[in-house]
Amino acid sequence: MKNLLENDMLKSTFMESLKTNTMKNLICGEWTTSEETAENINPSDPSDILSTFYKASLSQVNDTIDFAHEAQKQWSQSPMTLREEVLNDIAKKLLDNKEYYGEVLAREAGKPIKEATDEVVKSAEFFSYFAAEASRNKGAFMDSPRNNVDIEIINEPVGVIGVITPWNYPLAIPAWKIAPALAYGNSVILKPSSLTPAIAYILAEIIDSTNLPKGVFSYVSGSGGIVGNALSDSKKVQAITFTGSVAVGKELALRSMSSMTKLQLEMGSKNSLIVLDDANLDLAVEAAIKGAYNANGQKCTSCSKLIVTPGIYDKFIEAFTAKMETLVVGNALDKSSAIGPCIDQKQLDSNLAYIKLGIEEGATLVCGGEAIESETGGYFFRPALFVDGKSQMRLNQEEIFGAIACVIRAENYEEAVEILNDTQFGLSGGIITESLSMAMRFKHDAIVGNIMINLATAGMDNHVPFGGRKNSSYGSREKSYAASDFYTTTKTAYIKY
Ligand code: NAP
Repeated sequence: MKNLLENDMLKSTFMESLKTNTMKNLICGEWTTSEETAENINPSDPSDILSTFYKASLSQVNDTIDFAHEAQKQWSQSPMTLREEVLNDIAKKLLDNKEYYGEVLAREAGKPIKEATDEVVKSAEFFSYFAAEASRNKGAFMDSPRNNVDIEIINEPVGVIGVITPWNYPLAIPAWKIAPALAYGNSVILKPSSLTPAIAYILAEIIDSTNLPKGVFSYVSGSGGIVGNALSDSKKVQAITFTGSVAVGKELALRSMSSMTKLQLEMGSKNSLIVLDDANLDLAVEAAIKGAYNANGQKCTSCSKLIVTPGIYDKFIEAFTAKMETLVVGNALDKSSAIGPCIDQKQLDSNLAYIKLGIEEGATLVCGGEAIESETGGYFFRPALFVDGKSQMRLNQEEIFGAIACVIRAENYEEAVEILNDTQFGLSGGIITESLSMAMRFKHDAIVGNIMINLATAGMDNHVPFGGRKNSSYGSREKSYAASDFYTTTKTAYIKY
């Protein structure tokens, strides 16, 4: 499938090539078949089978771990100029074909085409950012209390890194993990979500087309259990970075303990936006709509709890529901769609079950909440709003990962923050207020990793640390300069002269 990368290829040929060639895995530096295959489909149109992919076997994963372990020794000694060249080359190749890749991503993940193409651009940015970071891997030099002894602190690569990623940012999350891993001299084994292997496969082909030595990067799609267990059981995998659900993250953590594997887990969340009496109403509605419904609520940073104080409660609900009426849900490839489908039938069923639960628990459904029929049979769902919710309801405690928001009344700022913090999660939290003093207090009071003031809870920048508190995250922060905490290990050298 090398021809996927040719710039002058016709789009139809590109898409056809994806469909007709079963996607292989990059194992021990070679594109390899396996016995088992699976298909991935377009959630806007389930009759559209994007591609078929091989599922790697346990022995193939173990073989590639051994190979990656050997390859890393060479890569750890590679000049920073080569690392920069490889990472910049990946960034360039992503950008060269961003429209085609955006279309694959939109078809595969159901993300509206503009957002999908933006994700390709963002992903390229991670590679160019970390191309530069390769030359900024700073050590330190310290004095010693002993005479004629100097101390040097060196940041070394960790070794082989297992990268396990979810379907909701199927290109950006692999990118923000792979780029620093390679920049700091590690080898990488990528296991993408089984729901979105095509865009990850394209990234793997791009990486393989660079001057990266064979085996430094491996691509293994297949069953989460098989690949994940092999990575966590192996003593040759020194670290695993995982993004996905809390249940899988915890399972992975328990299993990895016996190998003492270094872990970074980015997991689920339940984010809130507080709207205070003095809020700018238009801003509040815009931030709440964006946070609750963009990407169908299928973002770890989406907000589903809207905590509103009494002076603005009715006005907010009226303006919010009016805005909801304007949201167009439809095929992700249709430029007029603001919101695409749920990722699969299971997620659509789960959304519908939460609607039933919310009603049973006593919240009032004022808008949306039903499946939308379409000619293509896509998994479309009308964004839903509940009002008069209570913090203790399961509706307001569990991660829904769907376009369902619930308004909860809070008497004042103090109660609003208490409700925001009343969760097992702690990824992102926002407040809409014109008061500097409230905004400053909120920055300290919210127990989350990301604070948004007069902004939606979703929408993070690439060049700053990202991560959460409580059950949302475990281990050090992702992205930016902070990524070096995870992808390097510190050595302290004492030198007597
Ligand atoms: P998931 O079901 O936990 O899957 C995530 C990845 O783990 C997939 O590649 C999956 O492979 C793999 N996996 C499954 N079982 C495994 C096992 N036993 N051992 C190792 N790996 C295993 O999550 P998802 O549904 O793809 O993603 C949605 C979740 O991701 C949500 O909870 C969301 O909040 C979270 N998320 C968090 C962040 C963040 O930064 N905090 C960002 C994005 C998403 P298969 O696909 O083959 O099962």
